[in-house]
Amino acid sequence: MAGPEKTLAIVLKTQKWSETSKIAHLYTRKWGKISVMAKGALRPKAKFWGHLETFSLIEAMVYKKQRERIHLLSQCLLKDAFGGLYADPERAGYGFCAVEFLDRHTLEEPNEDLFEWTVYNLRMWQKCSGLRLRLGFYEYLLLSLVALGYRPAIDNCISCGKVPDVGKKVMFDRDGGGLICRNCATEEGHYQVLSAAAYDRLKNAVNQSVDFKEDPCPPQSVVDEITETTESFYGYHLGGMRLKSLEFVRRIAGPQ
Ligand SMILES: [Zn+2]
Repeated sequence: MAGPEKTLAIVLKTQKWSETSKIAHLYTRKWGKISVMAKGALRPKAKFWGHLETFSLIEAMVYKKQRERIHLLSQCLLKDAFGGLYADPERAGYGFCAVEFLDRHTLEEPNEDLFEWTVYNLRMWQKCSGLRLRLGFYEYLLLSLVALGYRPAIDNCISCGKVPDVGKKVMFDRDGGGLICRNCATEEGHYQVLSAAAYDRLKNAVNQSVDFKEDPCPPQSVVDEITETTESFYGYHLGGMRLKSLEFVRRIAGPQ
């Protein structure tokens, strides 16, 4: 067996394996999603104690075993526990949505953009609440889809290429994956109408010209449109199943 290799990783979830060991599912910077055995993690004073918790960013030393599904974690160092997420149930809920998303839609395949984007958001959400937090989550989801290769055609009509008029409402064709202009729209199509403000924010987010920390949060009606568009785009392209953790967030956040 070759020596251990070092990678940064986000802990997605863990499960007890034996009286003293647990298995951790990690989203790593180097390999994408992998599972590791943490021997002795459940012993008091174990070297992994307290580090293998959902959301934690760790530096992991992993013995990668060829053709095996579970690798061996030899050491881990806590870089950030994102404790601020646990301080508020809604934040924790969105954090669980993010790890559920990664667990569901990634493979053992590196994606540094997605890794860095997730770390950035977990860090940022620790200071957010309410509408700002919800916007943060949906922008996370949108750009995670982009990182996985599902980029909405947001700049011009998917059929004729026409660029929408500035300051006007636009129509979004979820099934087609982007904007559709009046001339190209058909009667059978299901389109979502987006206000100019929601369209601007979505377009800028997809094109990564939003400063997610500094730019002000748009009003609730706009966040609602972004929520709906992103959710339906996600549902259509990745199986139509909603994230279970979102139901939890809905329950604790009350009517939105
Ligand atoms: Zn068109």
